Amino acid sequence: MPLVYLDNNATTRPAPEVIEAMRPFFTDLWGNPSSMHAFGGQVAKPLARARERVAGFLGAERPEEIVFTGCATEADNHALFGVAAAWGRPGTIITSRVEHPAILGPCLRLREMGHNIVEIGVNGEGLFDLEAYEAALLANPGPKLVSIMWANNETGVIFPIRRIAELGKAAGATVHTDAVQAAGKLPLDVRNVPVDLLTIAGHKMHAPKGIGVLYIRRGTRIKPLLIGGHQERGRRGGTENVPYIVGLGKACELAEAALHDGSEARIARLRDKLEAGLLKTCPDSRVNGSRTHRVANTLNISFEYIEGESVLYHLSDLGICASSGSACAAGSLEPSHVIRAMGVPFTAVHGSIRFSLSRYTTEEEIDYVLKHCPQVVAEMRALSPFVKHEA
Ligand code: PLP
Repeated sequence: MPLVYLDNNATTRPAPEVIEAMRPFFTDLWGNPSSMHAFGGQVAKPLARARERVAGFLGAERPEEIVFTGCATEADNHALFGVAAAWGRPGTIITSRVEHPAILGPCLRLREMGHNIVEIGVNGEGLFDLEAYEAALLANPGPKLVSIMWANNETGVIFPIRRIAELGKAAGATVHTDAVQAAGKLPLDVRNVPVDLLTIAGHKMHAPKGIGVLYIRRGTRIKPLLIGGHQERGRRGGTENVPYIVGLGKACELAEAALHDGSEARIARLRDKLEAGLLKTCPDSRVNGSRTHRVANTLNISFEYIEGESVLYHLSDLGICASSGSACAAGSLEPSHVIRAMGVPFTAVHGSIRFSLSRYTTEEEIDYVLKHCPQVVAEMRALSPFVKHEA
C-alpha cells in the first residue's frame, strides 16, 4: 500500500538535506555552544550561521532578533505572556476567532489574569473582518497587543497581515503574527510587514519537530517566558538545541529557494486538480475558505451529511493521510472552531477534511486520491442518516 501524505499542515517530512546538515551535531560536534573551550566554540559558529540564515529568511535587520524556542507553541506563549508581563498592568489583546489553540489558550489565561481579550471574527469565506479590527483598536485605550495569524492552518486562508500590522502600529499596539502556516509558502519579510513579533515552526517547513522561532524586533518590550541561563541574550533560558537549530537554518535556505523555483505554482496546480476532481465526483461537496486568498498547498473540503472522521479512517486504510480540522483538535469530535466561525452549515461542519500538500507531493499521489476518495464518500453517504435514500 502506498503512503500518500497529504497532511503537511500537521507536520512535514524532514528534508534529506536538513538531516544531513544536522548529523555532525549528533556525532562529532556535540559540545555546548556556551562553553569557554574550543570544542564548544566549534558549535557556537554554526549556531551563529543558522541564526543568520533564519534572520535572512525573515528579512530581520539583525540575527539577534531571532530567538530559538522548543516549538511554535512556546514562541506564541512567549509573545503573549511576555508582552503582557512587560506592561505590568492590565491591557487589551486583540486576536481572531480562528487562531490556533497556541494563541487562544494563552488568551483564556490572560483573561483570567485581568486582561481584556477581543476576538475578531471572519466572514463566510474565512476572511478577516478589518472593520471590526479597526473599531477594536479605537475602542480600547491603554496597552494593546495584536496577535493575528498570517495564514490559517485549517483553511489556508491568508489574512492581510501587512495592513493589520500597519493599523496596529498606528494605534500604538505591539503586533505579533503566528506565521507558522505561511512560512515556506509565502515570502515573509519583516522589512515590509511591520510586525514586532513573529512565530515560525521548523516541522511545518521540512525541519524536524522540536524547534521554533520567535522573531523579536529590536526595541520591543517583552519579558522572557523561560527564565534560566543567559542563552539567547537572556530572552530564553535553556541550552540551545544546536542540531535542530542548524537543521532549521538549512530548511530556511531550502524554503527560500523553493519560493523562487516554481514549486508553489506546481503545488497549487496539484491542489487545484484535487479540488476540481473531488468537487466533480463527490456530489454535495463544498470548499471551505476563500479560493483566492489561500496558500497554495491547502484544500479544506466538506462532504455534506457525513462525518469527516469516518472518511479519514477509510482513507487511512488506503494509505492516504489527511486531517479533519487541526491535528490538536482531532480526537475530540468537537467541530472545528475555524469552520464554525465561518458559519458553515451544520450539515457540512462535521464532514470537513483538510488535504495539505508539500513540495514532495506528486501527481500520481493526487491521482490515487482522486481514484479512491469518491468511492469512500459514496459508501459513507449510503450509510448516512441525514441523506434521503431511495426506498
Ligand atoms: N500555530 C499554528 C498556526 C499551527 O498550525 C501550529 C501547529 O499546527 C502551531 C501554532 C503550533 O505548533 P507546534 O505544535 O509545533 O508548537
